[in-house]
Amino acid sequence: MSRASLKAGVGAALAVTAADRLIGALTGMRRVPLIVGYHRVVDTLASEPPTATPAMSVSVRTFAQQLDWIGRRYRFVTLDEIGARLLSGERWTEPVAAVTFDDGYRDVYHYALPVLTRRGIPATMFVITDAIGTSSLLTHDRLHLLLARDWPSACRALARIGVLPARGKAARGPFAMMRFLLGTRSQREIAHVIQMLEHLLGPADAAPESLLPLAWDMVRALDRAGITIGSHTHTHPVLTNEDHAHVVEELVTSRAAIEREIGAPVRHFAYPDGGFDTAVVSAVAAAGYGFAYTTCRHRDPDHPELTIPRRFLWENSCLDARGRFSPSVMGCLTNGVYDLAVSCRRRHRVDAERLERHEAAARAIG
Ligand SMILES: [Zn+2]
Ligand SMILES: [Zn+2]
Repeated sequence: MSRASLKAGVGAALAVTAADRLIGALTGMRRVPLIVGYHRVVDTLASEPPTATPAMSVSVRTFAQQLDWIGRRYRFVTLDEIGARLLSGERWTEPVAAVTFDDGYRDVYHYALPVLTRRGIPATMFVITDAIGTSSLLTHDRLHLLLARDWPSACRALARIGVLPARGKAARGPFAMMRFLLGTRSQREIAHVIQMLEHLLGPADAAPESLLPLAWDMVRALDRAGITIGSHTHTHPVLTNEDHAHVVEELVTSRAAIEREIGAPVRHFAYPDGGFDTAVVSAVAAAGYGFAYTTCRHRDPDHPELTIPRRFLWENSCLDARGRFSPSVMGCLTNGVYDLAVSCRRRHRVDAERLERHEAAARAIG
């Protein structure tokens, strides 16, 4: 049985008994705001290039269905409202939800903004400041394109440059390999891998229009339309793989660039790839962010406001076995039912020495 049909089966069975809500209550999901995360919102998935990164796109039709489902069960609020309530400690008396987007793709402006505006739904866009206004592919898109264009040749090239795909990762294909490399290598090492892959396999194709980042005038238009603009770093490294000076630079540069362009303070930050540890969290605090968002359920006990969980959605998140939007799968997903089976295995605590280096760097920018 495929993972999708298993998920759909569990969803259908649980929805009949409303057990998803019971499990939601037991896992604590219904006591905390539902914050959903998206990357790209596209016209249709069929119009996407075959080398585009999967699991990062939702069609505008499915996006609207997901929002309508959430809107019937939760009140949409801004991240500022969630943040204020978190700091005050006051409990929510009704289920609330917030919508966020990572990476600053241009298609969100074209396809998601009209859907949000028509429904009066607030949202937040986390942008990568160095990418804004350029015509380059983001690192993860470039890497995925190089791997997916000809996967057997890419495996041979990876072996030649000494980045041997772990057996399991190689078997699972380009997307798993991309995630593995981004999660375990520094930005400098990834740049080297890309350079070598382009040398051995030929350069990555030019960025298709659909994969381009926002321009600054679009960011300002989103801001004027009431979309909160948050930081997603300057160049999108996974911060847990970087040294403290680079982490601080990414956090400070990106915040300053957005504040300069929109003329308003930036309080919200999203960790690239959800990568955080205690040292990174303390650097985020020192850089002046009030709230930060992850991609798993783990919290930093000293900074719960800087490790706020989100739930990522894409086209296939909530489909039944026949590929149609499934309200029962959506219910299980938002209530954290699948979290019981899939857990984050990342190490979020760091040794005292790395923490001390980060804190010293934070004091220096103080
Ligand atoms: Zn990202
Ligand atoms: Zn985690």
